[in-house]
Amino acid sequence: MAKPELQHNMLRVGQGYDMHRLIEEEPLYIGGEVIPFHLGPDAHSDGDVLIHALIDALLGATGLGDIGDHFPDNDENYKDVSGTWMLEQVLHLLDKKNVFIINVDSTIFAEAPKLSPHKLKIRNSVAKLLGLSVDRVSLKAKTAEKFAPIGTSEAIAASVTVLVQMPPLD
Ligand code: MG
Repeated sequence: MAKPELQHNMLRVGQGYDMHRLIEEEPLYIGGEVIPFHLGPDAHSDGDVLIHALIDALLGATGLGDIGDHFPDNDENYKDVSGTWMLEQVLHLLDKKNVFIINVDSTIFAEAPKLSPHKLKIRNSVAKLLGLSVDRVSLKAKTAEKFAPIGTSEAIAASVTVLVQMPPLD
């Protein structure tokens, strides 16, 4: 479906948050990219906090529940599935409902590694997954001033806000 002309009553905002414990010798996936680090999330799937928070933001904006409703973590079918695979399923659902994503704003909370050298790569990855230009995908990085659990690198978290365009009302 071609993107219809925007009316203000077609806009919906959504937010999502995710946090994972960090452990030794797990790959650190952020936004579908592996970031070099000696710790990674102790997670059921790949523990990609950015993608998981993005999925919740998209589901929240569209009133379609949350990531646990769609991919229950006690279901063997979803054991070890990647964040990007789950995102693809959600994007397919939104596409069927003629939902268009307008922009994404996100924040990663991590004491280490320094994310500034990786931010553009992560933004490009998320933009590509969403089919958006990279200027519509924002990524900020925050530390936690050494306060636990994020500031002690025991955990990593992400917060994501999205704006979407819903189909015109009948
Ligand atoms: Mg998660």
